[in-house]
Amino acid sequence: MFGLLARLGDLDLVEHMIDVLVHQQDHGKADNPALLEAVTLLSPDRAAEHLEKIVAANAVNSLGPCGALLASALKGAFAKTPMQLQGAVKTLLDLLPGDPASAPQDQWGRPRVAKPDAAFIADLVDVVDRIDHGLARQAAAHVLAWPRHFDLDRILVPAAKRLIQAKRRRGAAFDAVYTAVVVHLETRIGEPLEAPRDWTRQSAIGCRCQHCAELSAFLADSTRESWTLRAAQQVRTHVENEIRRAGADVDIQTLRRGSPHSLIAAKNQASYKRRVAQRQKDLADLAALRR
Ligand SMILES: [Zn+2]
Repeated sequence: MFGLLARLGDLDLVEHMIDVLVHQQDHGKADNPALLEAVTLLSPDRAAEHLEKIVAANAVNSLGPCGALLASALKGAFAKTPMQLQGAVKTLLDLLPGDPASAPQDQWGRPRVAKPDAAFIADLVDVVDRIDHGLARQAAAHVLAWPRHFDLDRILVPAAKRLIQAKRRRGAAFDAVYTAVVVHLETRIGEPLEAPRDWTRQSAIGCRCQHCAELSAFLADSTRESWTLRAAQQVRTHVENEIRRAGADVDIQTLRRGSPHSLIAAKNQASYKRRVAQRQKDLADLAALRR
């Protein structure tokens, strides 16, 4: 459609249609090819201005599609003149999640926070590394300063794997994120990994009531494998909730015999098994990153 409008010589209408797409709620990746087709019909300056407006209007709600849009633009129309997209990229960096105090706000005054994922970080690193060393360092420093928004395990490790698989060019942002991820994995791999030698289990029970104190003593006891609490349902439910909240290494079951019933807690190796699974994943991730 945009091509037809351009052939008719109606660039004003092309710009109007871009504005309509820009202000649609929830800009999605599916719109990107149409937007890119449209902006590239314009002069490079006008095209860059429109891309900046698109990012400004959509980055908070549609961070992923905005990152993908700039990454595509840099591989296409702006491949030879990446600096022209500096403004759009700076706008994107300004809208990254970070300090809630400086975040844009919704109509009720609550911070509006963009939600990054691994695909977005891979696009972001690719984009800033194509544009400028300073922006690349700034972007990487921001991402690494806010683990609350850019979690190492959930976002940065898979992002680094994507970048390695895609064989993206290596710049300052790539190096910073890659190094942080490798150090994170190596540090965890360096931690001791040993099955429990006796029945002592970590006791992080927050409550100090009589029953929870008994539970804590049981967890810390190196010789006792199981513990039975015969008590009213209210008490049993409370202790069960505390066990779940603390993530204690016990299997629980209720023995419905006699009155009141009994809660039986039997120690297991759940934490150790989780750490073993994590170690296997860390080793596989590290191998993938060094490929
Ligand atoms: Zn308690």
